[in-house]
Amino acid sequence: MEKKNIDWSNLGFAYMQTDKRYVSNYKDGAWDEGTLTSDANIVLNECACVLQYAQTCFEGLKAYTTEDGHIVTFRPDLNAQRMVASAKRLEMPAFPEDRFVDAVHKVVEANAAYVPPYGSGATLYIRPYMFGSNSVIGVKPAEEYQFRVFTTPVGPYFKGGAKPITIRVCDYDRAAPHGTGHVKAGLNYAMSLYAIVDAHEKGFDENMYLDSATRTKVEETGGANFLFVTKDNTVVTPKSPTILPSITRRSLLYVAEHYLGLKTEEREVYMDEVKDFAECGLCGTAAVISPVGKIVDHDKEICFPSGMEKMGPTIQKLYDTLTGIQMGHIEAPEGWIHKIC
Ligand SMILES: *Cc1c(COP(=O)(O)O)cnc(C)c1O
Repeated sequence: MEKKNIDWSNLGFAYMQTDKRYVSNYKDGAWDEGTLTSDANIVLNECACVLQYAQTCFEGLKAYTTEDGHIVTFRPDLNAQRMVASAKRLEMPAFPEDRFVDAVHKVVEANAAYVPPYGSGATLYIRPYMFGSNSVIGVKPAEEYQFRVFTTPVGPYFKGGAKPITIRVCDYDRAAPHGTGHVKAGLNYAMSLYAIVDAHEKGFDENMYLDSATRTKVEETGGANFLFVTKDNTVVTPKSPTILPSITRRSLLYVAEHYLGLKTEEREVYMDEVKDFAECGLCGTAAVISPVGKIVDHDKEICFPSGMEKMGPTIQKLYDTLTGIQMGHIEAPEGWIHKIC
């Protein structure tokens, strides 16, 4: 298979159209058999439920070229599971988990020429999503849905090494108690746009959201979960029913415990104790872990001892081990790596 002529190491995080995408339609109570198509456009009625009432959810994962030349994806079964949970919360029909994994497999295989080569730092980003497609004007769930998966090659998240970022404690909320914070709904992102544009204008890289009920506990950013390291090297991640359950974060906790022999805790994390941590990072598929150097909480600043130049030592080890597993130079736990070809 001949790779496309793309300058892999200078790719950013932007959409580039690839050859094939997967489409399956839901109608009369059932999903059709699904197909790969070359058509990247969608034609919808003006009154489609997704356009009027934002009935849509999505997933995000990546395909990598391993050191020995295989194309693999990382734990796609967990994305499939999470999309079922998102669909249920939004009154959408679940797309079967085995079919989700199969659709991801087929789309990556069909776009293998766009999977960046080993060592480039770039990856193929995979975006499964679904939406209510028929016209709905009275507020109710759609009756027809479309499930799609497209791919786009994306560049190395950290060009020239991972520089720690500066984030702020945000005065806007991301998720209400008993709301939709725990599912990957497009609407969670729509309402975070105002806060992130405001944060960027004021010179911050990200927003740190607190729990909206008491504003005393750490939740997450707009698109990544927090991971902290204590001064005695315990890995701590916030626990809350309104956080999106990041697959990267869950994998990093496993790596901390089983590969690095570290103690781990998943528990409520109070804003008051954040100043006592040694390291802080944000975890998600995009970057694996972005180190946080500084948190600005209104008139107070928390500067982590790991500084603003590089990742702290424990976060670096977590990062190296998980990316080593993904790239195939460290043995993966059973079932983590889904081989495409
Ligand atoms: C997708 C997402 C994450 C990261 O999840 P991963 O499975 O690790 O990619 C974290 N927080 C939010 C709000 C998200 O939407």
